[in-house]
Amino acid sequence: MSKQKIAILGAGPSGLAQLRAFEAARRAGVQNLPEIVCFEKQSDIGGMWNYTWRTGLDKNGEPVHGSMYRYLWSNGPKECLEFADYSFDEHFGRAIPSYPPRAVLKDYIMGRIDKQAISKYVRFECPVRWVSHDDRTGKFTVTVMNHKTGEQESDEFDYVVVATGHFSTPNMPYFEGVEQFPGRVLHAHDFRDALEFKDKNVLLVGASYSAEDIGSQCYKYGAKSVTISYRSNPLGFDWPEGMEERPLLAHFDGNTGYFADGSTKEFDAIIMCTGYLFHFPFLPDALRLKTHNCLYPDNLYKGIFYQHNPKMIYLGMQDQYFTFNMFDAQAWYARDVILGKITLPEAEERRQDMAHWLDRHERLGGCCDAIDFQASYIRDLLGPTDYPEFRVEDQAALLKEWQQDKQAGIMNFREQCYRSTVTGTMATRLPASWLEIKDDSLESFMSLDFIENKRFDKVD
Ligand code: FAD
Ligand code: NAP
Ligand code: MG
Repeated sequence: MSKQKIAILGAGPSGLAQLRAFEAARRAGVQNLPEIVCFEKQSDIGGMWNYTWRTGLDKNGEPVHGSMYRYLWSNGPKECLEFADYSFDEHFGRAIPSYPPRAVLKDYIMGRIDKQAISKYVRFECPVRWVSHDDRTGKFTVTVMNHKTGEQESDEFDYVVVATGHFSTPNMPYFEGVEQFPGRVLHAHDFRDALEFKDKNVLLVGASYSAEDIGSQCYKYGAKSVTISYRSNPLGFDWPEGMEERPLLAHFDGNTGYFADGSTKEFDAIIMCTGYLFHFPFLPDALRLKTHNCLYPDNLYKGIFYQHNPKMIYLGMQDQYFTFNMFDAQAWYARDVILGKITLPEAEERRQDMAHWLDRHERLGGCCDAIDFQASYIRDLLGPTDYPEFRVEDQAALLKEWQQDKQAGIMNFREQCYRSTVTGTMATRLPASWLEIKDDSLESFMSLDFIENKRFDKVD
């Protein structure tokens, strides 16, 4: 039998998890591994964690993928995203605080990857243009634009793994009068540097993670005022002076915003923190996942295999309490299906399994419920594979603590410390408050006082 061929689309954390899963099998001596090609639009691995100053289009004229910004710190405890097969201790050689800045987390993600070993699989600057499936041969054809050669290329594959992320294409709403607004109007996707909004009155539309974090950034770096406008529910944190929440914006008149409660305020800039669209311009209807940002998109068996063609595999398409280790759990499961270690049930049985999860998904109450839901989803994946145990239920408990810590102090929660469920190591304290630490570089973070505490405080 000829070797199976797999295309992985995207080399962010999800695509890298898939590469790592096969690498782990290779190291374990598994024979007859498939041939893998990973197509990546950017010129490096890391996905969203690659900071780029660019907005709009990249140097090749492709839409910029990155939505991250300067001074971004992890918004959840690092103990809840720790890889089970590559701990923070292993990477940094010492305990570090629970909430690292982006550059530190990126360093950790990259540290697990043997760049030389995987660089032979990844084709950089090769955005995927189109994927088709031939029902007669059972093969996919993937067409990419190779910007390095300036030519399009096509190849055939047995499986396609879509790992292109879903926090990159802005959902941009319209409000009457916004076209006359005299200041800057942008989406969170294009936000790069809070210093731009120093001494400004900033309006953020939306009430989720982007609004919460970009609002806090603007406050930290000296905005005059920050107003967050919510559609469904306010974030409800005890905001510091100068920050407030208002109901949904109705319209603008010049630089004045009119809100649903009849109140008005003048603004210098508007940042739409209104989320992202699932956007797969390279997929035909028959293969394309159609969903919004939620914990259990329909038509994905195990949250991975497209119901209408289970050789079409999606990673990381859920809304995310858990991130890196959830992508790993998915990737290890997908690998074992591809290797024939796990047999997928027939369509009807897959439908019933999805119906069970969708039913539970519909009945979710608050965020504790949602955290438990994602933890049990991951637990379900972990059973049949050899991905190392990482006590996902204990991480769920940490995520609930995180929610409480945010309620207790939205500007201080990043000063909390948690214990690793993988190594038992307790995080070290930040030497100053998050509001005071303004340099987010790896070098600066790693030279903060906490590194003097090199001893791991282990659980017995
Ligand atoms: P991505 O990281 O988005 O990677 C997708 C990759 O696919 C990219 O490299 C992209 O270039 C490539 N790609 C896209 N289209 C194509 C194409 N057509 N052809 C080829 N390649 C393509 N998670 C956390 O755990 N902690 C955090 O603190 C955190 N902060 C975040 C902050 C922001 C502003 C955002 C938007 C997300 C944040 N996340 C955070 C969630 C983040 O989505 C995940 O951590 C993770 O990056 C998802 O990995 P992914 O591989 O699924 O997608
Ligand atoms: P999101 O969680 O999908 O939330 C979108 C928000 O926009 C919701 O509050 C939604 O309100 C609102 N919205 C959508 N359309 C609207 C409209 N027409 N008018 C008004 N409001 C509208 O998206 P997100 O906040 O951008 O977060 C995306 C991801 O980025 C998350 O995974 C998050 O963890 C990550 N993130 C992380 C950090 C960090 O780590 N520091 C920072 C930012 C983002 P409804 O509730 O009414 O639908
Ligand atoms: Mg197992």
